[in-house]
Amino acid sequence: MSETTKSLTGKTRRLTARQLPKKFPNLRANENCLTDIACPKCGNREQFRIEMKGVFILRDAGTDDHEDTDWEQNAYCQCGGCQHEAKVGDFTFAGLDGLLKPAKQSEG
Ligand SMILES: [Zn+2]
Repeated sequence: MSETTKSLTGKTRRLTARQLPKKFPNLRANENCLTDIACPKCGNREQFRIEMKGVFILRDAGTDDHEDTDWEQNAYCQCGGCQHEAKVGDFTFAGLDGLLKPAKQSEG
């Protein structure tokens, strides 16, 4: 593996899924909608504001319920903890929850 340690003053290097739990030792595990999503600035994993695409039921009185929601890696995302703003892709750490969860033994 080659690592570029070019600039110390340039832009912050993107953390990897392995580096994040070292920076935030109390990182909690997620297992549903926020799997592999975490704030690289504060380690928050509880709540995010994300620009979503969705199908809503709209009545004269307003929106009622929504069906499937979806978002893209380039969608706007804001951390609910520190208000850090970036793209969803910058909050996504592939494999993070696989690292946080104790290895399960698969049976049958
Ligand atoms: Zn944050």
